[in-house]
Amino acid sequence: MQRTRVDLLSLLPNELETLSQRLGVDRYRGRQLAAWLFKKAVYDLGAMSNLPREFRSRLAEEAFIGVPQVERITPSQDGSRKFVLRLADGARVQAVIMPDRDRLTLCLSTQVGCGYACAFCLTGTMGLDRNLTAGEIVGQLAAVRQALGPDARVTHLVFMGMGEPLANYEATVKALRLFIHPEAFGYSPRRITVSTVGLVTGIQKLAKEDLKVNLAISLHATTNAVRMELMPVNRGWPLESLLAACRQFPLPVRQRMTFEYVLLDGVNDSPEDALRLTRLVRGLRAKINLIPFNAWDPSRFRRPPLPRILAFQALLLEHGITATIRWSKGEDIGAACGQLKEPRLPKMASA
Ligand code: SF4
Repeated sequence: MQRTRVDLLSLLPNELETLSQRLGVDRYRGRQLAAWLFKKAVYDLGAMSNLPREFRSRLAEEAFIGVPQVERITPSQDGSRKFVLRLADGARVQAVIMPDRDRLTLCLSTQVGCGYACAFCLTGTMGLDRNLTAGEIVGQLAAVRQALGPDARVTHLVFMGMGEPLANYEATVKALRLFIHPEAFGYSPRRITVSTVGLVTGIQKLAKEDLKVNLAISLHATTNAVRMELMPVNRGWPLESLLAACRQFPLPVRQRMTFEYVLLDGVNDSPEDALRLTRLVRGLRAKINLIPFNAWDPSRFRRPPLPRILAFQALLLEHGITATIRWSKGEDIGAACGQLKEPRLPKMASA
């Protein structure tokens, strides 16, 4: 029977050590391999010059390095760039890089499409094709690093692209461990944000992982009736249970939970909504990201007029709630929040 080859990008340093040992070399070869993959961004076994040739050929038989192929890079006027990435089976996902002063943030996808069907989200119209593997999540950073060259350093990672990270829990957590591990990518957890539509059991599980990453909750409404209309997930996990899970989430010192709130004209942008929002997050170390809706065709929603957006923010600030307006980046290239969608490709025949 043919053995399934493992994606080296999905293995933690200790797993690379175990693999190396299994292939007949000392464990430290695994650490050398990790340094090539994660620190030096070298994804060609042939170029890993300090590894014995025989070991590299064994690796090539047993494993692969699953860097997705960059199919297209679309630059935006605001400096962000959308990467369309093609995975080994022909599926496509998007990753977006967003520069902001000395930051370079990469927005990652965790699923091909999404099954949560939020009414304001273009990705949600695709439905869910499949989960990404941990290697495919990590591979998005590898592909972007390769395309940007050695001088560009991605400083922050946000799990806010296509898909719901906590619905692909195991792969998301494995990818987080790879991003954080000092001998893998070595990111500080404070520079990583996982965004969720509000999967309560996922939040509770994540709370026990001790990862210390930032959590962003897609809230988007202040009553169950409106949230149900916007986000079908609210039928299973209404506001009360979601906010209770947020209150129990162990936030590291000086970290705050982010609540994402897309502003939709005449739907959730009234002064009453703003006041209810202050009550919902009261007592939580929270900040609110207000996201004026990014129009897409044929969405039934519109962006509120600017004075209404500013008035909503002002009410939150008056009540002592930190609230920023996030003018999404990449709007002109369909890369802004809720705008990521890729037409499906015919799947490649498996080998
Ligand atoms: S907002 Fe997030 S969870 Fe909702 S449909 Fe879009 S990608 Fe899925």
